[in-house]
Amino acid sequence: MTATTTNKLALFGGPKAITLDPGDLFTWPIITEEDEAAALDVLRRGAMSDSDVTMKFEDDFRAWLGVKHALGFNNGTSALQAAMFGCGVGSGDEIICPSITYWASGLPSFSLGATVVFADIDPETLCINPNDIEHRIGPNTKAIVVVHYYGYPADMDPIMEIARKHNLKVIEDVSHAQGGIYKGRKLGTIGDVGAMSMMSGKALAIGEGGMLVTNDLDIYERALTLGHYERFKASIHSDKLKPYAGLPLGGYKYRMHQVSAAVGRVQLRHYEERNAEIARAMNYFWDLLESVPGLRGHRTDPKTGSFNGGWYSARGLYSPEELGGLSVTRFCEAVRAEGFAASPGVNRPLHQHPLFKDADVYAQGKPTRIAEAGRDVRALDDDLPVSEGIATRVFTVPWFKHYRPDVIEEYANAFRKTAENYLELLPGDPGNPAVFGGWSTFIHK
Ligand SMILES: *Cc1c(COP(=O)(O)O)cnc(C)c1O
Repeated sequence: MTATTTNKLALFGGPKAITLDPGDLFTWPIITEEDEAAALDVLRRGAMSDSDVTMKFEDDFRAWLGVKHALGFNNGTSALQAAMFGCGVGSGDEIICPSITYWASGLPSFSLGATVVFADIDPETLCINPNDIEHRIGPNTKAIVVVHYYGYPADMDPIMEIARKHNLKVIEDVSHAQGGIYKGRKLGTIGDVGAMSMMSGKALAIGEGGMLVTNDLDIYERALTLGHYERFKASIHSDKLKPYAGLPLGGYKYRMHQVSAAVGRVQLRHYEERNAEIARAMNYFWDLLESVPGLRGHRTDPKTGSFNGGWYSARGLYSPEELGGLSVTRFCEAVRAEGFAASPGVNRPLHQHPLFKDADVYAQGKPTRIAEAGRDVRALDDDLPVSEGIATRVFTVPWFKHYRPDVIEEYANAFRKTAENYLELLPGDPGNPAVFGGWSTFIHK
């Protein structure tokens, strides 16, 4: 397509595709007087450190997901560490975790005396590749951590099959994908245990907070003993744990702040409805771009019975070969000129961070990552090609919180216009930098 006056790229002096004021289109979480009243009640009662509201929040969660046990945490990181501990991960053990994720999906294993073996991701789902798990299992492997990355449900069926065959536990990290569905089943309830962040930037955003959900009483009780001393009582079922009631086995304190719990109860009450509106808006955006070369939604096909949840930090998949080799870096530069702050990349591959290579965190005389494993698991990092290259094939898209077709159409046009004018962008394309993306991102919009 040739550049007419109206579709001349804004980067070259044309009119911007995005002109309308987004208003509160991106505002998240949605806070109303209901949240304010719930938070004030906790503050006025001086109940910030109690557990009455948190336990009601846990009840709400059990009812919502249809699980037997839910346990609130001060954040998602501690919920994940407790999920690992709940699964029996301890000294000398290994967990398998994707390299492309936020660090808390795997790093808490270190402080349990265990280590991480990284697996590669699938370039379409951006989640752990079920075909890259089995050859990484060793005699000390205890669990597989699955992350439903950026809201996309990971392919759980083959992962559960591998886990059952090798007697491993499966931990679902649902931090990006609350409310998501895999073949009719709710995310977080398919593996042995689900754990998630509810930090303010996430899909289910309540302030700092985490939740662990499971149908397994043993996992629940072990998870509780790690950092919930006041709830670790002699009434615990496990005879092994009973003698230690009263003190936290991990030496941690993981209780949820009750202002978070109170806001969480309100947020959860409205979550399904708000999540459905996000899905409607995001699917409309991607439907508008369906025929545009080079760009594809990171979304599930509804025919499979699976649905993205939350759409946290929503992304698009980029195919430079359909756009004359245009780099995603140059593509995003042009979209930014149209009025949306697009950026390329995903979380940087964890296996490339020095903490996972040579850091001796606990003064054991060798890198922590291998100190308690029976083998040098770092050697397995030589085979993670998708994780290492994926940043050049992914870009950020608007994370709409409301279905407002007129504004969404403008945003979609910004991407369409840029892709359709790719030939003009090729001459000034500097290519991608050697490294981009960050080890952790904190995205509010
Ligand atoms: C945010 C996040 C966590 C950690 O949660 P916090 O509440 O920030 O401690 C864990 N896993 C993933 C995938 C996350 O994005």
